[in-house]
Amino acid sequence: MGTLTGKSALVTGGSRGIGRAIALRLAAEGADVAICARQLEAAQAVAAELEALGVKALARPADVAQAAQAGPLIQAVLAEWGKLDILVNNAGITRDNLLLRMSEEEWDAVLDTNLKGAFNCSKAAARAMIQARSGRIINISSVVGLLGNAGQANYAASKAGLCGFTKSLARELASRNITANVVAPGLVPETGMTGGLDEKAVEKLLSQVPLGRPGLPEDVAHSVAFLASDQAAYITGQVLCVDGGMVM
Ligand code: NAP
Repeated sequence: MGTLTGKSALVTGGSRGIGRAIALRLAAEGADVAICARQLEAAQAVAAELEALGVKALARPADVAQAAQAGPLIQAVLAEWGKLDILVNNAGITRDNLLLRMSEEEWDAVLDTNLKGAFNCSKAAARAMIQARSGRIINISSVVGLLGNAGQANYAASKAGLCGFTKSLARELASRNITANVVAPGLVPETGMTGGLDEKAVEKLLSQVPLGRPGLPEDVAHSVAFLASDQAAYITGQVLCVDGGMVM
């Protein structure tokens, strides 16, 4: 028996990168896992990987930035499994630019996906979790939300916003036995989001990591599995940096 046997989970942006690693890790602990992404095909391929681990899986196309798509996404999971124990708001994008060059569209796209997406999904999921008197909400932020980063004002604002959002949920939902926490990864260069960074940029960032190596998607996934488990029942409103010591 895994630590999450009998639980059902939804990982937004579970079709690749960190979200895929989180989905696989939760499944390895026995959870049934739903994933969503805008492109269905990649999500379906991950669903097949999840099923191969012996759990139930669900792949749905959904843009979390659209409340009209986030609501039906949560409803689909509830219709399939009757409950949603764990929500991982992982879907995220970047549209980097220096402040003076940043367009309104670049600002809106990042805030809409990274921050409003978490609001849309959490709101829909919380309704069911409140009724169940139990739930786990885990939001994937970034060390950039804590440190800031030149060229990423929109991204940093969205990720810092997630921290305030999460702490508010933690306070609002605690009496219903629902916890809300943030995992803030450092540099995870294996994934699509950081795929565009050149070697020099990665090396410069790595020089700020005391543990001296880049993060792996699995490093992040382990911490999410812990926060989702019964072992983390007394932890809420926290920001857990999984960053090799970058932020301390
Ligand atoms: P990634 O490889 O680019 O994957 C992003 C995932 O999100 C994909 O599955 C993507 O699928 C989905 N997605 C994007 N926009 C979406 C939307 N509007 N609705 C639904 N799904 C959407 O990114 P990653 O590097 O794994 O990052 C995952 C999370 O970790 C993000 O929140 C990111 O900010 C955070 N993070 C990453 C790093 C890093 O170094 N990689 C560091 C700190 C934090 P579709 O494109 O098909 O929608």
